[in-house]
Amino acid sequence: MTDDQLQTYVEQLSQTYFGRPFTHRATFNNRLRTTGGRYLLANHNLEFNPKMQNLPAFAGIVKHELCHYHLHLLGRGYRHRDADFKALLKQVGGDRYAPTLANQAQKTYWHYRCAAGHDLYRRRRINTKRYVCGQCHRPLTQVGQVKADQIGGRQHA
Ligand SMILES: [Zn+2]
Ligand SMILES: [Zn+2]
Repeated sequence: MTDDQLQTYVEQLSQTYFGRPFTHRATFNNRLRTTGGRYLLANHNLEFNPKMQNLPAFAGIVKHELCHYHLHLLGRGYRHRDADFKALLKQVGGDRYAPTLANQAQKTYWHYRCAAGHDLYRRRRINTKRYVCGQCHRPLTQVGQVKADQIGGRQHA
């Protein structure tokens, strides 16, 4: 995603979930390390971690930052501990906690392996009677559960 695409994405989520326009700038910031995004009180812009843009949780990260944004501009409780913030976050289905790469790494995956030794990782359990290995079409067996940061980093979906 480019910064322009990110801008459009944030504007769309803002309109869809908050019913209000996002009229400031959203950009990627490579210097964000473990944080998913941040709201800049001084200029009302949003910054996001480019390393998180492909995670399924990215929409939740954007909604979380938009909660800070809209509540701050409306003069309401925009901090994590504020009742306004908690209520709005729940309403739009944003990430409850300040998103970090660390808690993404703690997400659990089901691990499957075929007879040829190909590994497959899925967030949800799959029925091994119905699905075969995508690479060689051999049957899969369930190995167990692993955390995202224990996976080699290539094949998990
Ligand atoms: Zn936050
Ligand atoms: Zn295979």
